[in-house]
Amino acid sequence: MDTHSDMLTMLNHHREALSVPAPSVFTAEWQAMADAIPDPIFVKNREHRWVAMNLAFCTLTGRSREKLLGLSDYDISPDEEAQNFWAGDDEVFHTGETHTFIENHTDINGTLRVIETKKSIWKTDDGQILLIGVIRDHTELAGIREDLARINLELERIVDERTRELQELAFHDPLTGLPNRRSVFQKLKRRVTNNGTVALLFIDVDHFKWINDSKGHPFGDGILRELASRYFKLEGIDMVARLGGDEFVIITNPGMPMTHSALKNLADSALAATREPIEIQGEEVNVSASIGIAQAPRDAADIHDLIRCADTALYRAKDFGRDCAAFFEPRHGTRVEEFAAIETGLRAAIREHAIQVAFQPIISLKDRTIMGVEALARWRDPELGMISPTKFIPIAESCGLITTLGTLMLRKSVIRARNELKNRQRLSVNVSPRELEDPQFVSRLLGILEEEGFPSDLLDLEITEISAANPSKKLLTALTALRKENIRIGLDDFGTGYSALVQIQHLPIDRIKIDRSFVFELPSNRKSCALVEAMIKMCDALELEVVAEGVETEEQLVFLQNLGCHAVQGFLSGRPKIRKSFWQE
Ligand code: C2E
Ligand code: CA
Ligand code: CA
Repeated sequence: MDTHSDMLTMLNHHREALSVPAPSVFTAEWQAMADAIPDPIFVKNREHRWVAMNLAFCTLTGRSREKLLGLSDYDISPDEEAQNFWAGDDEVFHTGETHTFIENHTDINGTLRVIETKKSIWKTDDGQILLIGVIRDHTELAGIREDLARINLELERIVDERTRELQELAFHDPLTGLPNRRSVFQKLKRRVTNNGTVALLFIDVDHFKWINDSKGHPFGDGILRELASRYFKLEGIDMVARLGGDEFVIITNPGMPMTHSALKNLADSALAATREPIEIQGEEVNVSASIGIAQAPRDAADIHDLIRCADTALYRAKDFGRDCAAFFEPRHGTRVEEFAAIETGLRAAIREHAIQVAFQPIISLKDRTIMGVEALARWRDPELGMISPTKFIPIAESCGLITTLGTLMLRKSVIRARNELKNRQRLSVNVSPRELEDPQFVSRLLGILEEEGFPSDLLDLEITEISAANPSKKLLTALTALRKENIRIGLDDFGTGYSALVQIQHLPIDRIKIDRSFVFELPSNRKSCALVEAMIKMCDALELEVVAEGVETEEQLVFLQNLGCHAVQGFLSGRPKIRKSFWQE
């Protein structure tokens, strides 16, 4: 006996037991063929009882053929599902038509499966009406579909969000959340074309690049964010925006009067807001800003000109020593024009050696005698008139003239010092960090001293604190080489460079010059007093010489003397002079 006939015998027996007729069609061949098909197949009689099925159907239902034969859906499925299956069966039985049903089927493990069953009528040769069902299990597909729907939803959400973000980005600065340059143009355009009056305040954080480079970008970002939120709260503004870098711009309210005092008040409150200490990463920093103010239609009728005017005014504020505001003044022209004019004039002046040296005395507080002089560059252009070194030195630096200018100043100062100084009075010369970074600087300087016959141990070079606070390798090499030649190094404008006081102990320097902005407020401003006292104490500890610059009153001099300051310099004891002997005893 082969297995099929074996099985059929058994099945027939089973059917008999359940009084289910065993159609003769279900031969061993039928069974073998059906089992080879991967989709579940079943055959039911009119009473909804299974009379045949293939292996795949057994797998789907989790039951053996022996168990299933003669049973109906109610025996293996929840009533609700069985009822549904039966209803489908009845529809097909009644109409005689083929139908496909999507049905839920809870399998033997309790997993809900989604199946598609195609049901059709099968009339057998012996006159029986049977129902044959072919199932396709869509569970996984349904799962994938659900996933797809979820992914799709998520995608739509992301696309929506990105679109919103891009729109935001187009008009907002991501760091501070403030409107950006584009928004400023848009707003100004509306205001200016409506013939409205409007004022612009250009704000630039002083020495921001230095803070950013030395303290790290996250620190710098923190400062910008804090300032943004402070400016945002100012009164009388229509918009505050970040133009990029450390530049902010304020557009005044339409209702604001364009008077000098109203604009000055707004600028002052922005300056005050900047000055409030900022705490970042547990560290407190003090920053200041410079502000340029321009207004339409008085200064300019078109927005590009208006922006240029505000920019020019900003550079004037920087010229005035920063931490202040300046108004645009038409007679000054715009900055670009001014810059170009100065550069042309400066080239000619250097070529013709028309830059002069002014000497300002430095007074020892031990005996109030002149211990030395500082050489300051003076330039009178035939057309532009007197131009301050605070204006032309940065221009010389940026257009590559500083080395020639510095060399000229050095030679002239040394010649003048050799002729006019006596009793080991010293000469101080300002040098820009650009000059010091030139590898030829030291040898060129020694050459000049030798040629002009000035002893190197009477020379001081002054470098600004800003440049020394974050010194490059080249700068340190130059400083070390200079000190080997007994040339002394002074740190200029001390207190404005934000260097932590301890930081300077590692620098190869001999002297510090307390910036005149601190001296100016002595002795009325208690904070300045405390700062100056701290600076002097620190220099004592580090065995550095301290010079206070910008001393204009006897009161300031006495105050400094009492604190143990070594020397002073300022209008009180003598203005810088280009002619001999004015300053001499
Ligand atoms: P600095 O080195 O701090 O020079 C001191 C400045 O303070 C000078 O301005 C001087 O005229 C001014 N000053 C002196 N006493 C008083 C005072 O009692 N009250 C006030 N309010 N000011 C006083 P100046 O000559 O306009 O020079 C400005 C800056 O230009 C200098 O600041 C220095 O950094 C730079 N500079 C000047 N000459 C040269 C130079 O030859 N080479 C380089 N690299 N920089 C120079
Ligand atoms: Ca100086
Ligand atoms: Ca100074």
